Amino acid sequence: MRLEQMVDKRLMQEVSRLLGQFSLSRDWLTAGSVSAALLTPSGHVYSGICLDLACGIGFCAEHAAIADMLKARETVIESIVALRADGIVPPCGRCRELMMQVDRANRHTCVWVSDSQAIALGDLLPQSWMEWEQCRHPQWISIFFIVPIEPLAKGFQR
Ligand SMILES: [Zn+2]
Repeated sequence: MRLEQMVDKRLMQEVSRLLGQFSLSRDWLTAGSVSAALLTPSGHVYSGICLDLACGIGFCAEHAAIADMLKARETVIESIVALRADGIVPPCGRCRELMMQVDRANRHTCVWVSDSQAIALGDLLPQSWMEWEQCRHPQWISIFFIVPIEPLAKGFQR
């Protein structure tokens, strides 16, 4: 599903400002090769850069931007974009899952996958286990049983 035609200008300015790889304790331990920025419904922009480290302890730029947002106790993401040297990149599976677990309303988040296409997070993460969890909730079971039975009950009253 295509949601918008152009990435929010503030998001592009922020990711462009932050992008730039630099080395840490070793040449090959780096940060900043990817930057990310997100917009919340309140109009605030939060951002972050990736950390490419050994031993699996690094994290994505989206991950850092989401942590930045959570500092302000905001959880809903209106749109998000990540940038590397060769252009806009879609979020990895872990970051898609992270956004969904932070707030289920984020299934409507406008995720930029290129400079001309955005896709709703729910479409990038179909059949989320969190949606299945809801189906097992007793509230849903009662809807399945009550809805078909009610018209039958009215029929018997006539
Ligand atoms: Zn990621």
